[in-house]
This record gives sequence, structure tokens and C-alpha cells, in this order.
Amino acid sequence: MRRWSITLFRLFGIRLEVHASFLLLLAVVVWWGYDARGQEGMLAALVYTGLVFASILLHEYGHCFAARRYGVKIPRILMMPIGGMAQFSHIPREPARELIITLAGPVVNFIIAGVIYLFIGLPPMWNFYQPFALEPRQVLIMLMLWNLAMGLFNLLPIFPMDGGRILRALLAIRYDYLTATTFAVHTGKVLAIVGILLSIFYLQSPLTMFLFAFIIVGGEMEFRQVRVVEAYAGLCIGDVTHPASVETVFPLPRQTPVLQATWPLEFYAPLFEAQEDETYPVFLGEEFIGVVKTQTFADTLLYAQSRRKALKRANLPPWGR
Ligand SMILES: [Zn+2]
Repeated sequence: MRRWSITLFRLFGIRLEVHASFLLLLAVVVWWGYDARGQEGMLAALVYTGLVFASILLHEYGHCFAARRYGVKIPRILMMPIGGMAQFSHIPREPARELIITLAGPVVNFIIAGVIYLFIGLPPMWNFYQPFALEPRQVLIMLMLWNLAMGLFNLLPIFPMDGGRILRALLAIRYDYLTATTFAVHTGKVLAIVGILLSIFYLQSPLTMFLFAFIIVGGEMEFRQVRVVEAYAGLCIGDVTHPASVETVFPLPRQTPVLQATWPLEFYAPLFEAQEDETYPVFLGEEFIGVVKTQTFADTLLYAQSRRKALKRANLPPWGR
């Protein structure tokens, strides 16, 4: 992805990158402008794209400023034709925090629309909007409508759009994180498919069709990530350790890595899964407590996961803490 993006500048410590395909979108919009109004339309297309770009950017900064309050690091914002994407170091698991971070984006759009409304009021009739006109009032009407539409569109409960995240956060108050994500992702997929059908048969707009298709792909990618993290969350190496006697394990072959029981499992699980028949000694501090056997790792993991669930239900602290 990075190879196809151009770094513009840094703003508030966040690197702003534009995906190369954004230029393609710009070309299409300029063509629309020319088609509607000739040269004036082309100029208007550039102005409109610039203002829309700025609105999307401010929306993303809304998320970023809210997220920073909870210690989330944001190395970059990537602008794509389908919208902006802020890269977060992590998404807080507390529903209240995710709610605030998510709402902060659309709220920015509603504030922009509200401020313009204070200056120009509501347009008098329904045929008020002239596409690609450069008259300042027309530009402001476009900007107000765009921000209103963007704020509302993002609130559709289609994961990973903002509305889908809000749905996930609300569900996560009652259910565990994975269940909440699963439900939000499936709801989002159904709605996105409805969106694709509407795009084809009603709007006849390939652009929104692609947008919904991208949203489905994005949702699926994040869903996979959550499933992987969730599989190991709260588990440590001690949870997959078999008891073993010192005599059967020592002396260790040269260069055998020695593990600590309290290390989080998510960093080591890929190693265990990649190896067929290895045995690693596990220590709790100085004391030898057993071994991890990669041959039986899959079964041991299943057992540890069900045990973790049981512990959670009984409200007991996890192993080794
Ligand atoms: Zn957003």
C-alpha cells in the first residue's frame, strides 16, 4: 500500500499520505466539471475537491484527537478515493472510549454544516443546488450538503464505518468483544449488499457500488484481525504449559529458547504453530514448571481458551497474575 501513496506533509504530528488513485478521482471530477460548465466547471471541480478533501481530513482529525486522549498513537492518515483512514496503534477495548472516538468524526462534519448554516441559512427551495458553480454561496451550499451527507452516511451501521463501530461498541457493553464484532460485521455485510443492489438497480452508480464493495473487504480484514488477537487475548505461555519432570527435559540442547510463564501468548503462538515437534522449557521466575509442546499446541490452546472463558465467568484472575 505504501508504495502507492505520496506523503504530503505532517500536521499535528501525523503524517498525511494520499493514495495515488486519488489523482484518478480528481481527473474524473474535473471531467464532470468540464462536462457541466466548461472551463468554469473545471476550476469549480478543483475547488470542490479541495474543500471535500479538507472536510474528510477534518473528520479523520476528529477521530485522531479523541483517540489521543486515550493514549492511542496515530502515525499516519491515508487519504483514498473511498475516504480517509487514520492508522491507530490500537483501538481501545472499552466501549465508552470507542464510542467517543468514533462519534468524534461525524460530529466534526455536523459542526462544519452547522457553522455554514449559521452564515447562509437554509437554501429556499429544492432546486437550489447548481452543480459546479463557482459563486461563493453555491460553494458554501455544496460544502454544507456534503458535510451533512458525509456525517449521516458514516453513521450507517456498516462495519468498519463509524456507524458499524458504534453498533459494535454498544453491543460490547452486553456481550464479549468477539461476539459484538461478529454481529456488527455480519449486519454490516447485509446492509452493504443492499447498498450494492441499490447502486446497481436504483442509483446506477458504479462509484457507490465500489465503495460498498471496499467496505465489505475492509470489514472482513478487520474481523480477521480481531479474531486472531481475541484467540490469544488474556492468555500467557503458562496457560499452554504441560507439567514435566526436570530429568526428562534437562540438560537442554544448545540454543533452546527458555520461556517465561507470564509472557503473553499472542507473540509466541505463531512460532508454536509453525513448528511441528519442538519442546520448550517454561520457567516462572527461576523455577522450572514444565514445557510447551508444539505437537499438541492446538489442542492445548483449545483447552486454555475454554478455561479462560470459565475463569472469566467465575470472575477469577487469569493465570500467573
Ligand atoms: Zn469516521
